[in-house]
Order: sequence, then C-alpha cells, then structure tokens
Amino acid sequence: MMAAMTAPLTTRAASFEPQNLLDNTRQAHFVQTMDLVFERHPYYRERLAALGLRRSDFQTLADLQRLPLTSKADYMAAPEKFILDTQGLPQEMQTVWDTMYTTGSTSGRPTPFVSTSYDFFNILELQRRMLELRGVGPQDLIANLFPLTTTPHGAWIRVLHAAASMNVAVVCAMPGKPSPYFHLGNDLDEVVQLVGRSQATILWGVPSYIQRTLVRAAEMGLRWSAVRLVFVTGEALAESARTQMQQALAAVGAGSAQISISYGATEMQGGLVECQPGAGLHNPLPAQMLIDVVDPLTGLNLPDGQSGAVALTHLNRRGTVLLRYLLGDVSVRSHAPCPACGAVTERLVHTPRRSDALLKVKGMLIYPEAVLASLDTLLGATPYLLSVQSTEPGQALSTDRLVLRLESEPDEARAKQLADEVKRACGVTPELQFEAAGRLAPTGGSWKAKKFVDLRSAH
Ligand SMILES: [Zn+2]
Repeated sequence: MMAAMTAPLTTRAASFEPQNLLDNTRQAHFVQTMDLVFERHPYYRERLAALGLRRSDFQTLADLQRLPLTSKADYMAAPEKFILDTQGLPQEMQTVWDTMYTTGSTSGRPTPFVSTSYDFFNILELQRRMLELRGVGPQDLIANLFPLTTTPHGAWIRVLHAAASMNVAVVCAMPGKPSPYFHLGNDLDEVVQLVGRSQATILWGVPSYIQRTLVRAAEMGLRWSAVRLVFVTGEALAESARTQMQQALAAVGAGSAQISISYGATEMQGGLVECQPGAGLHNPLPAQMLIDVVDPLTGLNLPDGQSGAVALTHLNRRGTVLLRYLLGDVSVRSHAPCPACGAVTERLVHTPRRSDALLKVKGMLIYPEAVLASLDTLLGATPYLLSVQSTEPGQALSTDRLVLRLESEPDEARAKQLADEVKRACGVTPELQFEAAGRLAPTGGSWKAKKFVDLRSAH
C-alpha cells in the first residue's frame, strides 16, 4: 500500500486532460487520499469510526458522499486534527514548507493551513494553471498590489510563487505598513508611482485597493497603457463595480484591459478563475481538488444547474486535508466543457454568494438575490413581487409555493417566459399572478418596493 500511496502521479500543467484521463487521475488520487485518511488523519479517523464507516465503503469518488460535510466551525475548532500524520512518508511529504492562515475566524484566532513541500509543488502547479487560464504570457510583468499582513494568508506571497511558476517578472508594490517593527512599505502615491515606472502589464490585488490606485494615477496624470489584465480576488465584484473599474482603467489609458475575477480561499491556496469575463469560475487543477455543490442540510451532492453550497475536497494533499468542506458560499456548477476555452473541469457559473441568505423552497435551495437579478433584467421598471408561501397556511408540514406577482395585463406568452426564467435561475417554477397597476406599490412608509418576501409561518 505504501507504494501506491507514494507513487508520483503528476499531470501535465500546460493543458486540461480529456475527461476520461481526468477521471482516472482523480480516482487514483482519491484512493491514495482515502488510504492516508483512514491511517493518518486524526479528525476524519475519529468521525469515520463514529459513523461506522470503513475503508471499503469508499471505493470510488462517488462514495465520497457517504462522508458528512465538514464545516468551517469543525475545522476552526481543532485545525491540528486536520493535518495528516506523515511519519514514514517520503521526505517531501513530511517536511512543512509553509503555514498560511484563514481570515475571518469566528474566534478571532486565525486558523492555520499547513502545506508540506509536496503540497507546495502542487500549489505552484495550481498557480501556473490559474495564470494560463487567465491568458498570462512570457512578456507579462505583474504588479503585486496585495499588502503584507501580520499573519500570512496566501495572497501576497502566492503572487510571487505564481510568477515563479511561469517564469514571469513581478514587482511588489508593498502597500501599507503592517507592523510598527517593520520599516518597509509604501503609501498610495508611492505605490502609484512604482506601478507606473514598472510598466506592469498585470495589476493583481483586492478590487477596492486597485480602484484606489487607478483613481489616484488618473489624478496624477499618469498613463498605465501597458496594463492589459487586472486580477481581482478577495472581495466580490458586482457588475457595477466592474464597470467603474473599467472606466478608471480607461482614464489611465488602459481601457482595453480585461478584468479577471477569482474565487479564492486559503483552503485552496489559489482560486477558481475566469478564462474570459462571464465564462464561469474554473477549477484550475481538477486532478488535485474537487468542487461539489451540495445541499447543506442533507449533505447530498446536487446536480449541475442547481443552486447549493460550494464544497471543496482535497484529492492530493499531505499537510492539512479537508474533505467535503463547505467554503461558506452558494453557487451553481457546470461540468460542461467551457464554451470559451474548452477546459474540462468544474465551473461555478453563478457568482458565489455567502450561504447565509439561502432558502429552501419545495425542497430546493434558492438564493432569492440571484432570482431577483434575473427578473430585474427581464422586467426593467415593471413592479413585481416574488414570494414563498405555504400551500396550507398554518400547517407545519404544508408544502411551499413560489409566487410571482406582476403589475401587468394578463399575457400568457410573458407568463411562460418569466416562469422559465425563474426556473432557470433557481430550479423552482413559480405561479404567475397578474395584478392591476398600483397593487404592488410600497406600503408602510417605505420608499422602495420589496421584491421578495417569505410568507411561510415557520421554516
Ligand atoms: Zn474557459
């Protein structure tokens, strides 16, 4: 078994494997990981034993669903229990290369995420694949606009590693001063000057800070015409913010630069990235990590096209190992080859949103904001109200109805179009009700019409 566990199983970094090869590689990695988990993972050994699950219960990747989901709270409560005991494995699988920390811990104590040398080499491959997907070439020069932080969380340092993995140049602008014991670090104007001098072709950082540098560069009359790509991560970027950033880029002579969004997490040591705006967030290294969309209540995997919680499984790590780990966001996945670049991998085709705004309607998880966004596009200024109601109000076990009320003359064709759109956005078909003008006007002194309301008594 040791031989099987330690056999090198690397994939070519330059392109995505065809589906059948990817399935084989994933299956081989899964078998190795489950061998290691049953022998060496303190947390899952305990949990699997408590559930009466044995190694033989996990033959193929499909069996992974037998394992309950792991929450952030589980991991944060005892992060050391998620690190494999690597004694006796090859040297590179034993040596700790680095420890990064997750942000946003509920206890205020950052949670360590440990990578061995073996993991670090795979992180380099992950970072390279992210750059390839985003269209980086040998002539590019990256301006690293992430600040240094008092606890390493991956963003600042992994930009350097990404550049190394593709042999491209990087300039660290070092914004801010993270510590009174540290005398490096630049203020905004210095950062802006530095980016200008560097002739950077890629800006990489958090969107709000990148936006500040662009606005300041324009005020200072600088031209950043070499910039052709902007990599944003760490914060959600709404369409309106993307438009604003595009305008700010135009003001420094970089109007044709493309903004590329990533969905990153310390637990990935990288992120899912777009190959083109709107093409979905691609899992860059599907042989190493698996992205599922699950029902957080039942723990079951959901099919493509349904909204659910995003779960990460490490298929080939030796330090911190997480299986079916909830990243805390809701999205919709597709396995179809990317229409833009042809990659065969999981893509999240809706912008991930925090999962606390999720509702269960007719057994389906829906994210009302996503439905409203689609309806706004179709309906423009027409007043409407989407609601969830009980079929039998007051009955605890009543089923749900999704109702879309609309101020409009009855129109069968329109009703069908709207019902199809809501079904596409959340998986549930609504009942349509046409209302007289003014029926959905705001009440109770509100100036803004409510567009969604949950009218069920208990849920
Ligand atoms: Zn693509």
